[in-house]
Amino acid sequence: MRLDDSRESDNVEDGRGAGVGGIRGIHLGLFGTVLVIGVGYFLGISPSAMLGLLSGGGETTQSATPVTGTADANDPQVVFVRKILASTEDVWGAYFQSMGKTYTPPKLYLFTDQVASACGMASAAAGPFYCPGDRKVYIDLSFYQQLATQFGAPGQFAQAYVIAHEVGHHVQNLLGITDTAERQESGAGRIGANHVSVEVELQADCFAGVWAQRANQAAKILEPGDLEQGLTAASSVGDDTLQKREQGTVVPDSFTHGTSAQRVRWFKRGYDGGKVEDCDTFNAGASL
Ligand SMILES: [Zn+2]
Repeated sequence: MRLDDSRESDNVEDGRGAGVGGIRGIHLGLFGTVLVIGVGYFLGISPSAMLGLLSGGGETTQSATPVTGTADANDPQVVFVRKILASTEDVWGAYFQSMGKTYTPPKLYLFTDQVASACGMASAAAGPFYCPGDRKVYIDLSFYQQLATQFGAPGQFAQAYVIAHEVGHHVQNLLGITDTAERQESGAGRIGANHVSVEVELQADCFAGVWAQRANQAAKILEPGDLEQGLTAASSVGDDTLQKREQGTVVPDSFTHGTSAQRVRWFKRGYDGGKVEDCDTFNAGASL
């Protein structure tokens, strides 16, 4: 990616190495549980890692490479995150303005190992997530290492896609889509709720594509091979791919984020058209 002259966002909060002190008073209600597991996490893996934390026991979670210390303004990874977040602010800010709406950017909170969000406790093992309750994107940067090595999706644009996907959930929140989807999920039974979750997630992928197209149009940030990196990343976190790798079989009814092919397709659809209207996963029917 070409980000040399890109602006850096002020909305990145660095909680790395801060631990999870002071979390005992947090309310870990069912809402948080449903949210973190159904909407929040980026990957379709290990919800038990979150449940373990929510129920106060179970799994131990360790990030691969814990980052210690406080904010380092020159940490290249943090600078990168600030630049990508700033780009999403610029793109969505202008887009919302063109729709006669106001875009309030999310905060992006960097953490290590585990974090207490308004949606409950979350472990780094469950991947990056967005919490509608506090309007924050949460990322443990060690996920990028995992994305490159375990999931086979290296590169800056793969990393940018992760942020853009979570910001996509924020856009859904601002547009009222998150509320509607939660209502649908709560009355739909497990399989129905999973289906709604897939629609929500694929739309966030599509919104990530919308960002990529508009950001590139405005600032020519993409270099040859970048788009392919993003598509590889989208593919690598498909439910079928993850399930095949983790349990050897695929259970479509349990999908919450969509197949690899679907995630690639919706990301690309957003990228090709650059329009929110192209991302109506909820009425896509058989072409979801
Ligand atoms: Zn998501």
